[in-house]
Amino acid sequence: MYDCIIVGGGIAGLQAAIQLGRYAHRVLVIDAGTGRSTLCRQYRNLLGWPDGISGDELRRLGRVHAERFGVEFRHGVVVKVNHAERNNSTEENVITNTGNTGNTDCTDEGVGFIITAARATGETEHTQRAEHTEHTEHTEETENTEHSGYIEHTEGIEYTEHTEHIKHTEHIEQTECIDHMEHTGHTADTERHEQFHALTVLFATGVTDRFPTVPGLRECLGLTVYVCPDCDGYEVRNRRTIVLGAGDTGAQMALTLYERTQHLIYINHDYRSSPVSKKVAAQLQAKAIEVQHEQVVKVLTVGDGQFQGVELADGRVILAERAFIAFGGNKVHSTLLKQLGVERFENEHIPTELRSKMTNVDGVWAIGDIGLHAEQVAIAIGEGSQAAIWIHKTIMTLQK
Ligand SMILES: Cc1cc2nc3c(=O)[nH]c(=O)nc-3n(C[C@H](O)[C@H](O)[C@H](O)COP(=O)(O)OP(=O)(O)OC[C@H]3O[C@@H](n4cnc5c(N)ncnc54)[C@H](O)[C@@H]3O)c2cc1C
Repeated sequence: MYDCIIVGGGIAGLQAAIQLGRYAHRVLVIDAGTGRSTLCRQYRNLLGWPDGISGDELRRLGRVHAERFGVEFRHGVVVKVNHAERNNSTEENVITNTGNTGNTDCTDEGVGFIITAARATGETEHTQRAEHTEHTEHTEETENTEHSGYIEHTEGIEYTEHTEHIKHTEHIEQTECIDHMEHTGHTADTERHEQFHALTVLFATGVTDRFPTVPGLRECLGLTVYVCPDCDGYEVRNRRTIVLGAGDTGAQMALTLYERTQHLIYINHDYRSSPVSKKVAAQLQAKAIEVQHEQVVKVLTVGDGQFQGVELADGRVILAERAFIAFGGNKVHSTLLKQLGVERFENEHIPTELRSKMTNVDGVWAIGDIGLHAEQVAIAIGEGSQAAIWIHKTIMTLQK
């Protein structure tokens, strides 16, 4: 049995893994290899990295660091988490897995949690090593395979009859992870699941941004196209900047950025389904922010992710130095927690106890962007350590 299983090996999960590893606990991180930290090509607001660091590199370093302390990693998608006492581990096509250092199996009911994961195909070793980083690469082709033109939350995956138990709308976010894995050259084996037993479980599953799959956009993310005005408002000061968004959400982003630059153009890409309200339109007008109601068909770049402007559906080209995206409707990956009885806010983020980051369910923690805060790397890191300290205290108590 693991002392802790961390679901999600992004920034928050990795920091928690490092801290828990340093207590010499038995820790497994199960990660789909997607997430916001795989999208951002440069974090510039982080202590120790004045010239910025990419999400991929930060993740690679975090994993190498955690592995030093014996933390194990699994590339896969967690599809279910149960209380152990409620577990019926006789499901067909489920492999029980005690881990390298495990001493009990999943039939040891009554303690902790059973975590069921669809493993990433192509992985042969129990512990996939940190050097294996090709799943973090992004290509333009992968963007264009989206059905709806958005990176979003579809129910498109067809499960086999063996996996009927996960064929449910509540697994939308798992299908999304699986879809994203496919875009990065990996797939999740949804026909066979593995189960792991852990005393405690920590969720660090993050949020997925909704944005259109316009060619050229993804390679600019974090470099010259941003999502967070608190993180990157500095980058657009006095620069000609396009806000690419939907309805009032995008318009509000333009209004927020006005304190950084007055050279703003708001392009309402979703103008048909998300018109700008009269009230917000008046605010834009009062600040003389130009508004275009047209779809963007291409992001124009030069070199590696250097934004130049956009091409609109009507053939016009609008040039600018930088851009922000703001479409709203981001997906919070908290469904698995809901299934465990964890309380959620209306917006699907998870409330936690201030000091420990534990949820309302004993033994279940939630950190990083699934919590309710400013959605920043430094905060995800802080919460990773914070939760790990209290998970450690809990493990020590349980093991007495
Ligand atoms: C384009 C962009 C630019 C950004 N720029 C900045 C910036 O400049 N500064 C800053 O501070 N912040 C920035 N952010 C925000 C920052 O990336 C997030 O705050 C940070 O990544 C949150 O970390 P996290 O661990 O909570 O989530 P993530 O980094 O998203 O990691 C979540 C992990 O959970 C995994 N996962 C989810 N569900 C499952 C499942 N069911 N089974 C297994 N694994 C699962 C995912 O694959 C992923 O690896 C930016 C975000 C974006 C998208």
